[in-house]
Amino acid sequence: MNTLSTISAFTYQHKQIADYFPALQQKVYGQPLIYFDNAATTQKPQSVIDAIARYYSTINSNVHRGVHYLSQLATEASEETRRRVARFINARHTHEIIFTRGTTESINLVANSYSKAFLKPGDNVVISAMEHHSNIVPWQIACEDHGATLRVIPMNERGELLLDELDHLLDEHTRMLAITWISNSLGTVNPVREIIEKAHQLNIPVLIDAAQAAPHIPIDVQAIDCDFLAFSGHKMYGPTGIGVLYGKEQWLDRMPPYQGGGEMIKSVRFEKTEYNDLPFKFEAGTPHIEGTVCLQAALDFLESLPLADAYAYEQQLLEYATRQVSQVPGLRIIGQAAEKASILSFIIADTHPYDVGVLLDKMGIAVRTGHHCTQPVMDFFGIPGTVRVTLAVYNTPAEIDRLTTCLDKALSMLK
Ligand code: PLP
Repeated sequence: MNTLSTISAFTYQHKQIADYFPALQQKVYGQPLIYFDNAATTQKPQSVIDAIARYYSTINSNVHRGVHYLSQLATEASEETRRRVARFINARHTHEIIFTRGTTESINLVANSYSKAFLKPGDNVVISAMEHHSNIVPWQIACEDHGATLRVIPMNERGELLLDELDHLLDEHTRMLAITWISNSLGTVNPVREIIEKAHQLNIPVLIDAAQAAPHIPIDVQAIDCDFLAFSGHKMYGPTGIGVLYGKEQWLDRMPPYQGGGEMIKSVRFEKTEYNDLPFKFEAGTPHIEGTVCLQAALDFLESLPLADAYAYEQQLLEYATRQVSQVPGLRIIGQAAEKASILSFIIADTHPYDVGVLLDKMGIAVRTGHHCTQPVMDFFGIPGTVRVTLAVYNTPAEIDRLTTCLDKALSMLK
């Protein structure tokens, strides 16, 4: 069991990680800011902020279109990010990396384009009971458009998927299994390798929502053998508005474009347009160049930790936080899976999560309250929402102690 002192003794190569994050140096309502809303978006290290300023001061230009110097610099920097991302997740080919606005757009791209090519009446798509709305609604739309049905893997009271149900849910009419790696409201880490293997036995492709995995777990798409994987830059210390879709070449090649416009074409005639090769077939219009280029600084940051050490640290923080908040009278943790990432959701008897969140905010602690875009999870537990504390590499045991003290204070004000 970790004690406060053993966790504090844990050191990184950068000793005071929070010092690299200017936003964390602020006071809010006169209190030092404690930022526990990392699953929604992380704060940015100075290196990412500097990269954004450097981009606009030195290479700002449109990509792939110009012969001039700056355009070549911007193009080369964007394509370098593609190579870096491919290495980060161990993709076989760089052209399997498509830049999007974020996880939501990545999933919508697949749901829209893959379904046009492969989904027909009588088919089904399988998701799970703990999906974020962005891995539910695009598939509902696709199923409605193509006469298919949506099936849902159930979960138990601890927030673990009942994977034996896959034997009934997957069949010869299943065209896609789309599942989250880490639940953003429960913290559950799903055994994706095992799930993918099961689906592949029936030749069913699998999309992994890695929005919450990418900031915490080293990803190897070839090792887990997923067919698609989606994540967002802003949840992994990078810029907002840049996301990644990884797709196996064999699928992307057979899928039609998601959007039409510049960049995604080889030639345009009024009679017929010839589409561009991968990955550009799926990147219509001027991309988020600044976000793409500056994602490299976020990858540098993650790799410098390195990520596996950060995960071990966050696991210790989670264990400590779970133990500490459990002492708060009437507190019930929602999501008690055997394998969890550093996401801690809870409710407190006779209080509304919103009221707790507002009072914590006034004491300088940023948490998220509500359904966290997982309304079916809240319905399953019969609650309106939770207070969610999500921990990142810059959080500390001392901050968790302050949370516990402030929770006690909030309760005394609410009762
Ligand atoms: N999937 C999960 C598990 C998430 O936690 C989120 C965001 O919270 C998303 C998808 C959507 O990500 P974005 O809003 O960056 O597109």
